Amino acid sequence: MLPASSPIAAAGLLPTRSGLPRGAEVVTGQLVIHADFPLTEQHRLIRDLESMRTDVIQDLGLPISDEPIHLYLFESADRYEAFVVGQFPGFPARRAFFVETDTSLSVYAAWQDRIAEDLRHETTHGYVHAVVPTVPLWLDEGIAEYFERPRGESGTHREHVAHLNGRLLEGTWRPNLETLETLVEPGEMSQDHYAEAWCWVHWMLHTTPTRRKILQTYLADLRRDGKTVPLPLRLVRTEGSMSACSGAVKTHVEALAAD
Ligand SMILES: [Zn+2]
Repeated sequence: MLPASSPIAAAGLLPTRSGLPRGAEVVTGQLVIHADFPLTEQHRLIRDLESMRTDVIQDLGLPISDEPIHLYLFESADRYEAFVVGQFPGFPARRAFFVETDTSLSVYAAWQDRIAEDLRHETTHGYVHAVVPTVPLWLDEGIAEYFERPRGESGTHREHVAHLNGRLLEGTWRPNLETLETLVEPGEMSQDHYAEAWCWVHWMLHTTPTRRKILQTYLADLRRDGKTVPLPLRLVRTEGSMSACSGAVKTHVEALAAD
């Protein structure tokens, strides 16, 4: 998330002075897509992002929102990079990103090989932030990593499983939710943190109805009160201790790796 906002382009044929795509506009569900190139509502990727909305809402127990999420799609990495440098100077290089301001939810991305995964990730942030504006950083990223997987994979992130299992075998990692809770700046999130954040979310959504409910209730409470009881405390109430939670997550990684 960034503090700055970019002006939203009006419909037209040429890029605006700020360089936002404005060659085509498609509106579908909550999404308003602005692209450098022709794109139709029937495009598989757009249908995929639209149907993902139901998955996010249902799995996380969130209410439906009609707040628009603007997706700005650049035809090339060069166009995209020139825009980012001009509008968000100093922002670390990324293939895509999500920006929430007081008045808008926006995703910016270059059209490249991993566009589907990138858009699923960033659009998930949009669907969540449309109803829960303040989410702990690790949870925000864990949820986006979960939904970035293609629909048929039920949120299973093989790369993360292999990474975490490798660290377990080396003896260099143990799940630690309290450490994740201390992260506040996106720059603090390492690959290890992304993988672990994904893992806690997958564990809560896939192991027992009670854990899934804890996550859903937490998000519902967070929506009303940004200072609600933190998730680790809620998990400890049912799991007995933080160490029991960590042990259960470790077992979960091992089970997924053995699959
Ligand atoms: Zn993210």
